[in-house]
Amino acid sequence: MERRVFGPVPSRRLGKSLGVNNIPYKICTYSCIYCQVGKAIKMQINRQEFYKPDDLAGEVKELLNHIQNEKDYPDYITIVPDGEPTLDINLGVLIEKLKMLGVPLAVITNASLIDQPEVQNELLKADFVSFKADSFSPETWKKINIPHKQLDLQRIKEGIRVFRNYFSGKMVTETMLVKGVNDSPEELKNTARVIQGFKPDVAYIAIPTRPPAFKKVEPSDEGTVNTAYHIFKEYIKNVELLTGYEGNAFASAGNFRDDLLSITAVHPMREDAVLELLDKTDGNKNSLEVLLQENLVEKVQYSGHSYYLRKFTR
Ligand code: SF4
Repeated sequence: MERRVFGPVPSRRLGKSLGVNNIPYKICTYSCIYCQVGKAIKMQINRQEFYKPDDLAGEVKELLNHIQNEKDYPDYITIVPDGEPTLDINLGVLIEKLKMLGVPLAVITNASLIDQPEVQNELLKADFVSFKADSFSPETWKKINIPHKQLDLQRIKEGIRVFRNYFSGKMVTETMLVKGVNDSPEELKNTARVIQGFKPDVAYIAIPTRPPAFKKVEPSDEGTVNTAYHIFKEYIKNVELLTGYEGNAFASAGNFRDDLLSITAVHPMREDAVLELLDKTDGNKNSLEVLLQENLVEKVQYSGHSYYLRKFTR
């Protein structure tokens, strides 16, 4: 039987996250080209009951009871199935029951059903909501997310905007960049402009890090991710990269190598800032060269400046 409750696992966005699978594997409203769940996704848009909320909450409670050490206790319980969590018609009841366990509650959704008032009302009970925001031009949206035929992008955008007006928790967006699909400067500008209207707390830019369903799908390269970051920054205050490394922008251990690797996993760093960090820490100019040679960081150009970011392509 597939595991319905797992973790806690480390997550840069959520700290220690205890995951809850509220729907069976592979049931989704989308069939994204980069999805690691695979092509065998069962697509549907009708909400239904999958599991009893009491059963799921009971399993979470049991897992929490088994945590001996306070430092292992989760920062969030996260509803994050391998499919779309809002397809669960009991989502609202499930959130209420999980919140009674005294841990903040997060939901990671593709946003496809957010135009429905019931879905909005249910998600309003969460403390953290992450919406997928890969593209807002209809053609590209269809290409990257392969949505169910009855979904409407305009309604999804409007749904997120309405939800944001009422939601007092933390709301973030996640944009997955796929090489040659949604990463041109025009696309990125359009995506950033729409996300700006959602007023997210953070707009994350991610790249596929696990083997995708379609072999031809490749992550955007470092130079493109750097460009995407700067385009997003023109519109959105807080932008961070999710490139598969658990970077911590605030870590300052005073060790150039560790500091640079953790910072550049989250934000591209301009060369002058890198040299300043080098001065403040070990002062050895070779340290930067070594990281480049080891293929751990990449030097890229944007708007007349050099930037460094954590290397994620092979
Ligand atoms: S929304 Fe998530 S689960 Fe659904 S197809 Fe896309 S990546 Fe896979």
